[in-house]
Amino acid sequence: MQRKLILIIVLFFFLWPLNHKAFAFKGYFKKENYVQHIDSLRKEFSTQKHIPEKYELECLIALSYYPELKNVDIEFLNKRLKTTMAARPRVNALFKQKKNRTYRILINNSITDSSGLNYDDVPFNARIGIIGHELAHIVDYETKSMLHIVLNGIGYISNNTYRKNFEKDIDKITIAHGLGYQLYAFSSFLFNKADVNSEYLKFKEENYPSPENYKAMLTKHPEYSCHIIEKLYSS
Ligand SMILES: [Zn+2]
Repeated sequence: MQRKLILIIVLFFFLWPLNHKAFAFKGYFKKENYVQHIDSLRKEFSTQKHIPEKYELECLIALSYYPELKNVDIEFLNKRLKTTMAARPRVNALFKQKKNRTYRILINNSITDSSGLNYDDVPFNARIGIIGHELAHIVDYETKSMLHIVLNGIGYISNNTYRKNFEKDIDKITIAHGLGYQLYAFSSFLFNKADVNSEYLKFKEENYPSPENYKAMLTKHPEYSCHIIEKLYSS
């Protein structure tokens, strides 16, 4: 009896890491299921966050997948950009200790032609995907010194391969946090449904993984692989 008990305890601790999920698996989000929970999301994830009301729900859902950013100061604001969103440390962060850094996530909702993708045209899950990607940039910034961030920035603007690999690493952080399907949703929308011109798609192709690449990344990931067929192919 005692041997049996010991065996069960040993097996439990041996198998526990295989059963333990790094994040609560949710698949795709239905907006109507989350609208009613906005107060509890606000209570838990809006500390030090400045979010336009219009985008609050998707930002809070994405933030709920990044508990390590709970007390990090992040301002979400509208700005015209070459791309749909971007995350940057604020310039004053250069002169502050790492723990006092502040960040901005810029949301582009001013594009009116097919030279880019207007955030307001992006579907709900795909929005959560790109916000999750920008939050992953902040997770990355948080691990680095300002000098390291500046050197990354120089590599980013001067070398295409460096840029593409850098963005892929950021996507891996997003996937590890549980927003892999949302990343796929964004990429799939951009390449298959969005009203953008071929020049913009070429820019995206040169810098980010394709929907097929995302599918391959998710298929290999233990947290997603068991759900991959039903979720990706039914979307
Ligand atoms: Zn990025």
